[in-house]
Amino acid sequence: MTVYLVGAGPGDPGLMTARALELIALADVIIHDRLIPVSALDGARADAQLIYAGKQGGGEQVPQAEITRLLVEHGRVADIVVRLKGGDPFVFGRGGEEAEALVEAGIDFQVVPGVTAGIAASAYAGIPVTHRDLASSVAFLTGHEDPDKPGSALDWAALAAFPGTLVVYMGVRHLQAIAARLIAAGRAADEPAAVVQSGTLPGQRTLVATLATIAARASEARIGAPAIAIFGPVTALHGQLRWLERRPLHGVSVAVTRAREQGSRLAERLQALGAAVILAPVIRTKSLPGPPPDLGSYDLICFTSPTGVEALFERLDAAGLDARAFPGSERTRVAAIGPATARALAARGIRADIVPAQAVGEALAEALAGLPVARALVARAREARDVVPESLRAHGAEVDVVAVYETVVEPLDEQTLEAVAGTDYITFTAASTVRNFLAAAGGAQAWLARGSARPRVVSIGPVTSAELRAQGLSPDIEAQSHDIDGLVDALVSA
Ligand code: SAH
Repeated sequence: MTVYLVGAGPGDPGLMTARALELIALADVIIHDRLIPVSALDGARADAQLIYAGKQGGGEQVPQAEITRLLVEHGRVADIVVRLKGGDPFVFGRGGEEAEALVEAGIDFQVVPGVTAGIAASAYAGIPVTHRDLASSVAFLTGHEDPDKPGSALDWAALAAFPGTLVVYMGVRHLQAIAARLIAAGRAADEPAAVVQSGTLPGQRTLVATLATIAARASEARIGAPAIAIFGPVTALHGQLRWLERRPLHGVSVAVTRAREQGSRLAERLQALGAAVILAPVIRTKSLPGPPPDLGSYDLICFTSPTGVEALFERLDAAGLDARAFPGSERTRVAAIGPATARALAARGIRADIVPAQAVGEALAEALAGLPVARALVARAREARDVVPESLRAHGAEVDVVAVYETVVEPLDEQTLEAVAGTDYITFTAASTVRNFLAAAGGAQAWLARGSARPRVVSIGPVTSAELRAQGLSPDIEAQSHDIDGLVDALVSA
């Protein structure tokens, strides 16, 4: 029975530590804050108890005494309790108090440090908190308290004289008073200063001014929480080192109306260029029940998607069978269209013999062309392309195509629709995605009737554009080259 005080990092899921991810996956109970990465709990066990202990609806914080009580209560009975906090648990996270309460209650605990916002938001803003020529020390302080309140815990004279970078957490609200205090205590009014809002997140914004002007600039620009303020000459390096905000699609939000593999490749490309991507997964896969094929009668079994693997195993399972229904590898070869499909097979104990490097039908057909195949089974989606079966037949094989699942259009929930409606761009990669999206959104009329700030419509090419027009949605941008690269280029130059 152990309680782990775990840092979840500043917001970018990629900055969670390997240890944090491991503990989240093992935890019986997770007590988490509001400022954790959106996907932080994705890897939690389905039966884990998730307890929210942050601000309730932007209002009152769950009182610290209540959080400590929860930790002790669960720490006494559950094997693994994870207390998940934004950034680092011991940096302005009240992790110290929680650890003390655990010691007092005689409960074992461990601490897993996280990447703290002061370091991470600075780094993502291109501001090195120390620098050989500019800053040999750095101090982290809280701006939570009103500095004009009597009995402030901070020694402003010492901070003003501090020979290095000052990083202020929780300081947006009192920025004006904090800067004024420091200047009054002797810090140079023209010292470069910065604020970084939503550091490491797609909406990250950085402002650089001087200690005297930063508060006014921040309020003009409506900088809001979470934000850190950084005071010191290093902040001037932002202009030169702003690697994140310089990416071509930084600050741009794009909805991707998912058309399976194509959609996720587009999403990855856009994210790599800095865009905030909202996925609108309007199609869902649905297994088609039926008798399991007689696997022993084939010398080649092909899978063209991970879903196909799962759906075939569902059929085996329904018939009381398992992986032993696959014949020995000396008799029957198993082919997977790509690494993801091979992994799905491996998870079921089947090692794929053939996996082309590129996960497309043509590559699989080519990889299979040289094999002596008499009877082949292709387990796949109902509406898939015929490249693989046709190629096998052309090489003399008898081919059974079994549709083990189909894709169906699913209505989008209100939250996703709102998120899509709030983006800068909505992309369509095929005529079918236009039809599917509008069906999922309750029809073109309903979609168009939503708010005035609708995203601009981006089409991959003339066929998709024609479908958009037919549905009453005119494309604002059409890609010049009608593929994913062309669509990305169109967005970058938009
Ligand atoms: N334990 C956390 C800090 C909690 S205090 C850590 O180590 O990072 C909350 C404050 O952290 C916020 O008011 C803000 O000043 C800062 N903060 C947290 N996430 C941030 C982010 N993504 N960008 C900028 N500042 C952030």
